[in-house]
Amino acid sequence: MDYRAFFSEKIDELKREGRYRVFADIAREAGRFPEALNYAGGRTRRITVWCSNDYLGMGQHPVVVGALKKAADEVGVGAGGTRNIAGTNHYHVLLERELSELHQKDAALLFNSGYMANEASLSTLGALLPDCVILSDADNHASMIQGVRFSRAEKRIFRHNDAAHLKELLEDIGPDRPKIIAFESVYSMDGDIAPLADIVDLAQHYNALTYLDEVHAVGLYGRHGGGIAERDGIVDSIDIIQGTLAKAFGLIGGYIAAATEIVDAVRSFASGFIFTTSLPPPIAAGALASVRYLKDHDEIRAAHQERAQTLKSRLARAGIPFLPSVTHIVPVMVGDARLCKQASDDLLNRYGLYIQPINYPTVPRGTERLRITPSPLHSDAMMEELVDALTEIWLRLGLRAAA
Ligand code: PLP
Repeated sequence: MDYRAFFSEKIDELKREGRYRVFADIAREAGRFPEALNYAGGRTRRITVWCSNDYLGMGQHPVVVGALKKAADEVGVGAGGTRNIAGTNHYHVLLERELSELHQKDAALLFNSGYMANEASLSTLGALLPDCVILSDADNHASMIQGVRFSRAEKRIFRHNDAAHLKELLEDIGPDRPKIIAFESVYSMDGDIAPLADIVDLAQHYNALTYLDEVHAVGLYGRHGGGIAERDGIVDSIDIIQGTLAKAFGLIGGYIAAATEIVDAVRSFASGFIFTTSLPPPIAAGALASVRYLKDHDEIRAAHQERAQTLKSRLARAGIPFLPSVTHIVPVMVGDARLCKQASDDLLNRYGLYIQPINYPTVPRGTERLRITPSPLHSDAMMEELVDALTEIWLRLGLRAAA
């Protein structure tokens, strides 16, 4: 076999479909969020980033950067081992304690990413529970899907955010079989929210564990940034809350928070937790500072919501179509992979505005979009510039206007 030709053809397929991924080469500028320098075509240009998941700019907040630097000076950079073998630094312990408090749970467990937290936790829980069935929302993130797969537990998929369908599936499963309902609070591509209260009621009625991914909600919702479960006052009814330190908290890493026994089981059996070097301690120190800071600064969450609402109003006035998101995520719909890429290229090259195109398989074909994530630091002037640019591009490319 000609291996190189084979892989080259695979890549050509993606290119023909217009969904070959090209990374924007940018340097974020600490202190100038959401601006960045773009390195393209041998020159450097200042741009405005509109698609970052550093939702609040905490990745360069002086309190976070200061804590990280201080810890690096104190303890160095690498953890030096797995958690079990010399790699548990005191900052990991403090951060786990802080996260368990944030989510009002007995305990928390750190992973090297939110992806690993999902994959390792779901695969372990599903494998440990005998004859377990995992009920998984149809739009769950790839990391949850992998976790379910690796667990080898039976999987049943319920239609996205459809509690009635979930009920039908639960009804069908023997009452004595262990069950896990795995779902997200904020869905990151559509910006919609799961019917948490309904799902929790079903879980209680059918004696199922609830596993909630709050990756796009931690730091952003709830009085202390504990997520949608905190906002809706139902933390006690969620058995396992999973989150990330990489989005609103601005660093890297993931975690679960749950009852002692559940966390201890994952800690003791999850391969993706056990057999890898733990997070660099300065990262844990920075995350600790970030979680604490956001706990006490609800006004940042209010500003975030205001900015998202303002952008939606401006887009609506300009006739740019977007999904009716109820969150900070603003998905502007293009509906074609090539045009989506073209719109994104135009935004960057002509206007210095960066929004990465989102294509299949991240979203279904025909729903390609520009996923915009306004932060508290995006000003009115920036919004005006963005909406004007989108209006011109919509006209130039003949894209569909809002109905
Ligand atoms: N869960 C959801 C819903 C996500 O969108 C993502 C990430 O991008 C993850 C988990 C993974 O989190 P992380 O980026 O920390 O690996």
